Parts: sequence; structure tokens; C-alpha cells
Amino acid sequence: MKIEDVTILGSGAAGSTAALYAARANLDPLVIEGSTPGGQLTITTDVENYPGFVDGVQGPDLMMIFKDQAMKFGARYEIGHVTSVDLDNRPFKITIDEVNTIHTQTIIIATGATAKLLGLESESRLMGRGVSACATCDGFFFKDKEVVVVGGGDTAVEESLFLTKYASKVFLVHRRDQLRASNILQDRAQSNDKIQFIWNTIVNDINGVEGNEVTGVTLQDISTGETTHKPIDGVFIAIGHTPNSQLFHGKIDTDENGYIRTLNGSGTNIEGVFACGDVQDPIYRQAVTAAGTGCMAAIDAERFLSSKEFESLKETSNI
Ligand code: NAP
Repeated sequence: MKIEDVTILGSGAAGSTAALYAARANLDPLVIEGSTPGGQLTITTDVENYPGFVDGVQGPDLMMIFKDQAMKFGARYEIGHVTSVDLDNRPFKITIDEVNTIHTQTIIIATGATAKLLGLESESRLMGRGVSACATCDGFFFKDKEVVVVGGGDTAVEESLFLTKYASKVFLVHRRDQLRASNILQDRAQSNDKIQFIWNTIVNDINGVEGNEVTGVTLQDISTGETTHKPIDGVFIAIGHTPNSQLFHGKIDTDENGYIRTLNGSGTNIEGVFACGDVQDPIYRQAVTAAGTGCMAAIDAERFLSSKEFESLKETSNI
């Protein structure tokens, strides 16, 4: 039976940085790419805040560079989705796409986070038919059309700015009268004529006939309770993210929102299991912080594999 030293789950900024460091430490890491190979940056366009790129870089290009660099030192990438993990026995067991089994001494969880949705029935019915959670993926389809963006954080403002490249008008609908987005993004949005803010308002419903495109939204002013119908061509949901940690619930400690709890660097409550990137970070969620924690996880895994604790675990579990 082949036993991997390090298996990395996820191939975004965190996973690929962990792979680079683990490969350079001669640990021959295996990366399971997951359902979004390259992670969230592959659904982004301009990345202006990744150090080292004075003129910015396209998200998918950046992730390709990360992967190429890790592979140059021997990291192996495998397409697949983890369907279950057994952390009760050592070596750990990972099942890919319900059929393939991997045995591994350590695991680095870098599974990232996924965009949240409003939870409306009409939202799921019209998803891909005018409703989207990714402006950079779908903005192109709204050339000279009017769209709504829901949310008040960096993502909502960034998506609104991006959509002005295509749409004739972007209505940013926020449930409060103040954005939580960073000042630089707020300034850009406020000085963009194509963006109009609709404050203290929620989207109650998205209108559109089944099989057809979005035709409008029902908005509710939460200070007066008044509802209005607004004809619109598209709705972009940008209200935050959920950590992709479902696989580990009940197996690894998480906080109340599902973010994996890390201690002493990237360690989890299970020795030999480490976590990095957005799956353990409810605060910063930047490519550069994900890369930084990916580096930490690989160093922690390397140190664990050469530690006395690992030697004694090996003896007791007959690895
Ligand atoms: P976020 O900061 O959590 O903001 C989510 C926004 O959606 C908030 O304004 C929130 O309203 C609103 N919201 C949440 N649930 C809602 C609901 N059910 N209905 C209506 N509105 C709802 O999420 P984010 O914007 O995705 O950003 C996440 C993190 O990534 C942040 O740390 C951010 O700085 C970072 N980020 C950075 C960049 C960049 O630097 N270029 C780009 C994107 C993201 P309230 O304000 O009322 O809570």
C-alpha cells in the first residue's frame, strides 16, 4: 500500500503554496484539485494587490503560475473531489469521487470558501438565467443591460465596478445605509456614474418566468417596509462566503460559522492535520494571506513528519 507523506486538499493560493513548500522539502506532495481547480482567484479578473505584480495580474494567470512553480519542484496534481475522510486511524484515509482511496501520513486542508446566496426559491430557479454569484464569470452577458448587485462588502463593490465595463447601469442594493467595503473601493464606486446605491433595502424576490431570463426584482425598503418592483436584466449576489469544511464537521474543531480552528500556526485538533487559506480564515481572506498560511502548513507538516510525536504515533498505530 502506497502511503503519501503529504496530501493537500485544494489547489488555490493556499494549496499551491503548501505544495510548493512541501515539494521543495522533498515530501513529494499530492494535491487533490477539488471542484474549482485554482480556487476562487480563477473566477476573478484583475488582481492588483498581490505583491510582486506592479501592473496587476489576472487571477487565473496567477494561479497557473502558482501551480507551475509547485510542479517544477515535483508536486503532483490530481483532478478529483474528496468525498470522505477517515481521520480516526493512521495513516489517514481520503476517498476521491467515492471510488479512489489515498492513504496519507498528513493532510493539509486548503479547501477554501464558497459564495453565499440569499436563499430565495427564485434565486436558485433563475441561477444561470440572469442570477449569478460571479460577475467576472458572467458580466460579459450583460452588455448594455441593467443589473443589481446585492451586498455591501469589498466583493459587492468590486463586482459592481467590474460590471460597469459591460452594464449600462449597476444598482448596488445594500441592507444598511453604510458599506463595509474598504475606503479605496468605496471611493471608486461613488465616483462611478454607472453605479447607483439603493440603501436600507433587501431583495425579497427575483422575477422571471421559468425557463426565461430575469425580468426584475422585488425590493423592500427595510426602514419603511414598502415594497417596489424594479425591472432589471440581471442579479449578482455578493454577500460573503461559507468555508468549505462540511467534510470535516464532527471530525475537526471549527468555529460557529464552520471555519476550521487552527492553533500553533496551521495545526488543527488532530495531530498531522493542518489547515490553511480561506477555510480557516474568517477575517483576512486575501490571496496573499492564503499563500502565507499555505507556506506555514507545509512547514508545520514537514516538522511534524520529522518529530518524535510522529515516531511514537507510528509505533502505536503500526504505520
Ligand atoms: P463581507 O465583508 O462579509 O460582506 C458581506 C456583505 O453582504 C455585507 O455588506 C453584508 O451586510 C451583506 N450581506 C450578508 N448577508 C446578506 C443577506 N442575507 N442579504 C443581504 N445582504 C447580506 O464579504 P465579502 O465582501 O465577500 O468580503 C469577504 C472578505 O474578503 C473581506 O475581508 C474582504 O475585505 C475581502 N475581500 C477583499 C477584496 C480586495 O481587497 N480586493 C475583494 C473581495 C473580498 P452587512 O454589512 O449589513 O453585514
